[in-house]
Amino acid sequence: MDTRYLYICFALFLGTTLELPAQAAPPLAKQKPAKIIEVSHQTPQGNHEILRGKLLVEAIDGSVLLEDDQQILHIIPGESIAEQTVLSEVDPLTPKQLGQKTVASLPDGFSFITTRHYLICYNTSVGYARWSAALLERLFTGFHAFWSQAGLEVRQPEQPLVVIIFSNRNDYKRAAEKEVGDASHSIVGYYNQLTNRITTYDITGSDSNDPTTRQSSSSAGNLILRNPQASSLIATLVHEATHQLAFNAGLHVRLSPTPVWLSEGIATYFETPDLTNSRGWQSIGAINEARLELILKQFTPGLISRFIVEDEPFHNPDEALIAYAHAWALVSFLETMRREDFCAYIAHFNKKGPLELDTPAERLSAFKNAFQSEPDDLEQEMLQYIHAIARRTRQ
Ligand SMILES: [Zn+2]
Repeated sequence: MDTRYLYICFALFLGTTLELPAQAAPPLAKQKPAKIIEVSHQTPQGNHEILRGKLLVEAIDGSVLLEDDQQILHIIPGESIAEQTVLSEVDPLTPKQLGQKTVASLPDGFSFITTRHYLICYNTSVGYARWSAALLERLFTGFHAFWSQAGLEVRQPEQPLVVIIFSNRNDYKRAAEKEVGDASHSIVGYYNQLTNRITTYDITGSDSNDPTTRQSSSSAGNLILRNPQASSLIATLVHEATHQLAFNAGLHVRLSPTPVWLSEGIATYFETPDLTNSRGWQSIGAINEARLELILKQFTPGLISRFIVEDEPFHNPDEALIAYAHAWALVSFLETMRREDFCAYIAHFNKKGPLELDTPAERLSAFKNAFQSEPDDLEQEMLQYIHAIARRTRQ
């Protein structure tokens, strides 16, 4: 059984690969209600640390999974815990307190703005931060409306969703290296399930280190849309933001065994940019031309059957990009032609808890139960659907 879980979600556009940290999941005990605890423990560096937060999982060996007041997940090995006490209910941080606490943990020079659903921490121009926030808010509204109309129960996040925007690529790379290693050189942003944050940088390349610069959000938007790489840059931001929304609206559960094809398929389904709109993104379910072109050129029989039962194709540099294209095609097909079954399939996985593991046999049976079909049969139907939309878009 694969005992690793992978927690960084990113958009694969450039054929980049990502070495992901692997950790052994502790053996699970029964799921406990989320009580508030205080844990005194020793860090791997030998320091003494006290953490407070929601107890999400308690393992048989005493290890705990704790979510702190900034929504960061901590996996604390049982043998490092000196003391654990249950606290009475504590008030969540206000958006302002969350902003202050988050900025305090970032390099000097960061400010924050809060919007209805987001906390944007930035050290680039406020105009860029506002432009990003407007795009994210538009996506938030579209995402929630889309899935509730589809029949899924979506929930509002308890706290603002946190997005960190660095002013330039170098500072971003320095900070991102700690989380994603060398991949920070080639990816423009990522969502981390452990921190629940998106980290990215100012893709206009304005390199303004002065957060008080009075650049308006409309001039920031114009700069972005003029960038020759605007399309893939906006797609990346929307892709990562879709992951964050899916994990916070209840479609997926952080660190649970959500199939990678499902998570990446949904993110690619939403990512399609629209450069005719001043925010760079407008609607859900538009044809994702780049992914469509790739699957038409490199359709791989049997790939769907493989990634339904195991995530390996997404971790293999030789086929990850084509796996993303197949995941987009499958989600587009299921969402359009088998919406009710697709929602039942999503709901099957969102009942699983953090650090649970699924066997390939369990994943196959979940798929067959939801769609009443063998994956290979559905692959054929999907192929016809893909050719039909390709004919429509090329007329
Ligand atoms: Zn992704």
